[in-house]
Order: sequence, then structure tokens, then C-alpha cells
Amino acid sequence: MTRLLLALLCCTLVLTVVAAQTPQPVAIRVGRLIDGKGGSQQNVVVTLNGGKIANIGKSNGPVTYDLSKYTLLPGFIDVHVHILWHFSPDGRFQQGGTPEDRIAAGVANAKATVEGGFTTVQSVGEAQDLVLRKKLEDEKLPGPRILTSVRQINEYSRPPAPGGQRGQGGGQRGAQRALSTPDELRAAVQEAKSAGADLIKLFASASIRDGGKQTMTDEQLQAVCGEANALGLRTLVHAHSAESMKASVLAGCKEIEHGVFATQEVMNLMAERGVYFDPNIGLVLQNYLEHRAQYQGIGNYNDEGFAAMEKAIPLNYEMFKKAIATPKLKIVYGTDAVAGAHGHNIEEAVVRVQKGGQKPMDAIVSLTSLSAESLGMKDTIGTVAKGFEADLVAVDGDPLTDITALRQVVFVMRGGKVLASKEPH
Ligand SMILES: [Zn+2]
Repeated sequence: MTRLLLALLCCTLVLTVVAAQTPQPVAIRVGRLIDGKGGSQQNVVVTLNGGKIANIGKSNGPVTYDLSKYTLLPGFIDVHVHILWHFSPDGRFQQGGTPEDRIAAGVANAKATVEGGFTTVQSVGEAQDLVLRKKLEDEKLPGPRILTSVRQINEYSRPPAPGGQRGQGGGQRGAQRALSTPDELRAAVQEAKSAGADLIKLFASASIRDGGKQTMTDEQLQAVCGEANALGLRTLVHAHSAESMKASVLAGCKEIEHGVFATQEVMNLMAERGVYFDPNIGLVLQNYLEHRAQYQGIGNYNDEGFAAMEKAIPLNYEMFKKAIATPKLKIVYGTDAVAGAHGHNIEEAVVRVQKGGQKPMDAIVSLTSLSAESLGMKDTIGTVAKGFEADLVAVDGDPLTDITALRQVVFVMRGGKVLASKEPH
């Protein structure tokens, strides 16, 4: 008798433990689903289990979240942000600042970014990104998944001296400004990898404020992208002139950022080689102009620099029209969000459609599954389908008929966890 009771008790306990460990399925009813791969359907229920999408189907049963008035999409992805850039309390742009200030700003930027529907960003990038990422995870603060380059590499980059500070691209600034050797650049790539970089960010050209001409030699580009390829790291190249873009593609680099002076020839070359193109036409330059007083007088943020940026905006629109007309060119979604722009990342999509002539569905595919593919994450994020992470965004309206509906974010979930919601339930 006692044995039977014990056995029963034991079984009951086991059952209780199992029940506690099995997460309750979550069901979300949506009015419209845009899956991120070019498909859409009406009135469906998305079921989640353990933070992943378990099923998509029709059902009249009870649901956890009734979003039947809204459109559901995969969490948005921004492949080019500077998550720690911020304005200091006096309102001026501050590139430096104490690590504490930068992290505090990063926490606020991460919250604004995820509330805008972005569940994954790629920061290109600095070592402090790692500190921010860990803080968000440890303290369960709202923010996107963050990938980071940890540092940037340019024509003067060297691995940091032992015990020295990990450099940004600048390497030895000032007096001794000798170009880096290919060996030094390969060592810089190795150092970034051992510091935890998810990718390599390099500069093949000058800033648009300084004309955008090629700065790294072909040999240097080959060293950086060749070493990154050998180590299995993706490469993102800042390049404006067609010449610097072409040299980067020929050096085996995998993605080109900006590209305001891109020619049809170099776009064809990118398409042919499967190199991703991330033109930033809708947010970064407009943001600089809007916040001119906060940047003016710092480094190359001078009259000449602002004039160059103003001129580049219409050039970008024309360049983008050529890009979307280039067969097989893989255009990903990056904004180059800097201080003042965090939380407004979706403006790039609005401008790509309204000024660049892109079809809304193509802009959404770029914003989701295609950007996920560029991150090497095409089987886990960027698509609403069975088995994918439950990274989901609901917006008020139909972005296929009015792209500005993407601004009306009402619900954000990352990995099955609700991070922002304007809906009572
Ligand atoms: Zn950038």
C-alpha cells in the first residue's frame, strides 16, 4: 500500500515537473500575414512553441494575442547601424565619452530600435558593442539581437599593441601614418575574430564628406577580405566610388555599403558575383542634415561635408533606381543609423519605395529574409514559417498598399518574448 502510494506520488511529481517544463503554446491571430519571402495571406493563426514558430493555419479557437486588425511580418533586420552613437547631454554629437555613457546610450538606442520593429541589427562597430550585448542579455533589457564587427579596419589598421587599446581603423594616427602591410591587415582580421567579431567591417573608400575616393589599395583589400574568407568571416565594405566598389568585389569581399557613385558596370559585377549591396538612401544623410547643428564643426562635419551630403541625396535616389533594375542584384536593408537616427530605421524602407521606386513587397523581402540571408541566418530569422524564431512584428495598416504602415508598429516579439505592445490583452 505504502509502495503504491509512493509510486503514485512519484508519478504525480514527475507529471507536475513535465507540465512545468513544457511551455504553453502561444497563438496569435492576425488579419494579414506577410511572410518575408514574398507571400501574404489573410486571417491566419500563428502558433508558437518554445520561442519558435510551430504552425501557421486557420483556426477559430481561442488565441493568446488577437491581432486580427493588424498585419504581421517577420521582425525587421538592419544590417548596418552604429548602435552606440549618441548625442551628449549638451545635445552635441559625441564619438567618445566614457564607456558608461556609451553603454547607457546604447541601452536607450537598443530600446528605440526594437520598439521600431527591428529585432536584429548588425553594428559596424566597436568593442563596446560586446559590452552592450551582454548587458541587454544579462539584465533582460529590451533590444534587438546584435551582431558586431567589434572594430573597423582601414588602410592604416594594425592589430593593437600588447596591452594597448584595441584600435578603431585609425591605427597609428598622426606623425607615423604609414600604410599597413598586408601581413598587418591579416593580423588585424585575426585579432577581430579572436575578440569575438561576427563580421569584418572595412573602409575601401573615403567618407562621402571627403569625396568617397578609394583609400585602401587593391593589395590591402585582398589581404583583408582574403583573410576574412579564410577564417569564415563575412566582410562589409564601406565604398562610395565605383572604382573602390569594383576593387572590393574583385578582392573577394562579400557586401558593399553605401555606393553612391555606383555605375551599372559595378552593379552588374556585384550581381554576377553574388555580392550583397546595401545602399543607404533614406535615413543617414537626411538625419545628418536634420541634426546639422549637433554635428557641425566636429571632424569632417563641416560646410564642405554637409554640402557633399546634400548633393548625395538625389544621386542616391538615381543610383537606387538603377540598382533595383539590375537583374539578380541582392539588395539588403541597412540604414547606417547614427546619433539621432535610432528608432527611425524604417525610414529607409519608406524612402526606397517612395523615392527609389521599389515595390513594397520587394522592400519587405529586403528588410527581412534577404537581409537574414546576408547574415548567414536565412534558416532561423527573417521569415514567418514553421521552425523559425518567433521574431514577429505587427503593424497597423497594409504596407503593400501604403509602405508608411511599417511606421505603425503595435507589437514586437523576439524569440517568443513580447518586447513592445500597444495592444491590451
Ligand atoms: Zn556606417
